[in-house]
Amino acid sequence: MEISIAKMEQTFIMIKPDGVQRNLVGEIIGRFEKKGFTLKGLKLTSVDSAFAKKHYADLSAQPFFNKLVEYIVSGPVVAMVWEGRNVVATGRKMIGTTNPSESAPGTIRGDYAIDMGRNVIHGSDAVESAKKEIALWFPQGIAEWKSSAHHWIFE
Ligand code: UDP
Ligand code: MG
Repeated sequence: MEISIAKMEQTFIMIKPDGVQRNLVGEIIGRFEKKGFTLKGLKLTSVDSAFAKKHYADLSAQPFFNKLVEYIVSGPVVAMVWEGRNVVATGRKMIGTTNPSESAPGTIRGDYAIDMGRNVIHGSDAVESAKKEIALWFPQGIAEWKSSAHHWIFE
């Protein structure tokens, strides 16, 4: 049992300003909860452009970078850490592809978004980037707790 806990991954999920303004917070949190993932960190916060640039540093050479930073600072976001087996890759599947017009129905972007620059949600793309993003957004650390449903979700 302890071995399976050690293998648990964490991912950083952010509901972007459009998702907050469009009242999708409960819906999105509900999807991760119902899937069986465990909420380990949660805050509503606004970030400035220096912080947004740090979060998206890997994309700084992209032509859409400045617009992306403007988008992320345009209102409060909901920053979260979710934990579970394979949560990084599964979280990305639940979110859908970057362009919501190409995201499958049933995914968050497929169901709730149309434009790439208003695609509602961010999710870490790898275990390593998740670690970096969690450290950036939750420098004070995150909650340590184990859900009592754990044994009903994981073998
Ligand atoms: N983005 C955009 N235009 C593009 C590509 C990306 O506006 O051509 C935005 C979009 O909001 C995306 C974010 O930049 O979610 C980060 O891009 P990335 O390639 O990391 O996509 P993601 O990992 O969010 O699917
Ligand atoms: Mg990305």
